[in-house]
Amino acid sequence: MDFLHVLNIAEKNNGVSTGVKWIPTTGETITSYTPVDGSVIGTVNTADRNAYDHVVQQAQDAFVEWRKWPAPKRGEIVRQIGEALRTYKEPLGKLVSYEMGKSLQEGYGEVQEMIDICDFAVGLSRQLHGLTMHSERASHRMYEQYHPLGVVGIISAFNFPVAVWSWNTMLAWVCGNTCVWKPSEKTPLCAVACQLIVSEVFAKNNVPEGVSGLIIGNREVGEWLSTDTRVPLVSATGSTRMGKAVAAAVAQRLGKSLLELGGNNAIIITKDADMDIAILGALFGAVGTAGQRCTTTRRLIIQEDVYDTVKDKLVKAYGQLSIGDPLNEKNHVGPLIDTDAVKMYLDSIEKCKAEGGRFVVEGGVLEGKGYESGCYVKPCIAEAQPEYKIVQHETFAPILYLLKYKTLDEAIAIQNNVPQGLSSAIMTLNLREAEQFLSYAGSDCGIANVNIGTSGAEIGGAFGGEKETGGGRESGSDAWKAYMRRQTNTINYSTNLPLAQGIKFDI
Ligand code: NAD
Repeated sequence: MDFLHVLNIAEKNNGVSTGVKWIPTTGETITSYTPVDGSVIGTVNTADRNAYDHVVQQAQDAFVEWRKWPAPKRGEIVRQIGEALRTYKEPLGKLVSYEMGKSLQEGYGEVQEMIDICDFAVGLSRQLHGLTMHSERASHRMYEQYHPLGVVGIISAFNFPVAVWSWNTMLAWVCGNTCVWKPSEKTPLCAVACQLIVSEVFAKNNVPEGVSGLIIGNREVGEWLSTDTRVPLVSATGSTRMGKAVAAAVAQRLGKSLLELGGNNAIIITKDADMDIAILGALFGAVGTAGQRCTTTRRLIIQEDVYDTVKDKLVKAYGQLSIGDPLNEKNHVGPLIDTDAVKMYLDSIEKCKAEGGRFVVEGGVLEGKGYESGCYVKPCIAEAQPEYKIVQHETFAPILYLLKYKTLDEAIAIQNNVPQGLSSAIMTLNLREAEQFLSYAGSDCGIANVNIGTSGAEIGGAFGGEKETGGGRESGSDAWKAYMRRQTNTINYSTNLPLAQGIKFDI
């Protein structure tokens, strides 16, 4: 396939690298299957403990050099990576689509997010600023500055196989850190591709070997990172189950963790909603990426007066969805990542029915020509109750629950009454409703939108969520501060040393 050759992946079955160099490893082999048609794309050798230790050691050594580079010079490297990503946008986007199964437009969109974060990080490299404050002591000056942390470990999920890594690394790099990436074992080739793109830029610019470490492997390799005292910050994106394990391991050694975990995102549709916007936002949010976004719309909380209208319009819209090969731009919905995900989807449908849920659009697995991988499922819609166990749970598949409400207070309570707190939205043209939703008494999520669905986000804002979503923030705004340590400095330019609490020594 042309895009595989462009990225030279077919010839590369090593999954461990310190940047430009690939490190020998005896780790087990992972085979990457595409959910598009079930065929093998390639194999990758995972990190064994020796190779892992080598990569982290090299990252530590490189840090001593890299932190000396002025931040705008590091920004210049990131700018060149952004340029390289522009060059490789098409083949990399296709690979993302082929290995992960998201639609081609979404594959390109994911690479565009990488380019956007590079642009953001370049500007940021000239703005890593702290505050100055007036001292209570005469002829003293106080200020704060931010220094890099050291080696940043990045554990990422399958559903954004390249963008999440770039959100972390581009910021971490301009901040002066070195990075070690443990990508999802379900999308190893996307990670190899990114490493190859970065290594071209690094080699041209004599970037110290070790600034960009790659350690492909299973959960165990992620556990090595979480428990490693040489890694001051672990940024982990994935399920809440994984986040709890990583948080406990990192806290045990008093390290820092940045957690981006599961969501259970809802849109409230009030009777003052613009119905066209509401339906489009709900549809895109619920079926986009086959329901495998952390920000996927999983619950619609609908005012009773417009409940039937919304339901009917959605049922009609679902009837027009075309499901199939994500590389074919005519299709709206591609496959789930693997057959385990299909089992979870089917299991959740059964659980919903057992709790009393009524499906108004039936689910099921598609069979026959074009669906040979067994990973294509029908997006479905169930009428449910907010307290159902299955409604409280994030099923990473296109199952949408319809919930009915009378008053906005009730709708907000339903929206908040789940363990997760990532993304939320309200569809209304009523200013009072919108402001209540955004107020302290409104949505408890990290992201709260008005007349925009829950799914996706712009890189300029800080991205992340509360409660079981983990509390971390990545990407824009001041998310960069998570990758640095803050230091408060006081400078005395007087001729005395005024001591605290007026204490005096006769010397
Ligand atoms: P997952 O938790 O199964 O795996 C994610 C990563 O964690 C993988 O690299 C995996 O090898 C590693 N891992 C698993 N257990 C670990 C452990 N005990 N210690 C260290 N590493 C471990 O998640 P997934 O199925 O790949 O992704 C789907 C999940 O990710 C969903 O819950 C989704 O909501 C979440 N997600 C969240 C965000 C966000 O920004 N909030 C973004 C993307 C995905």
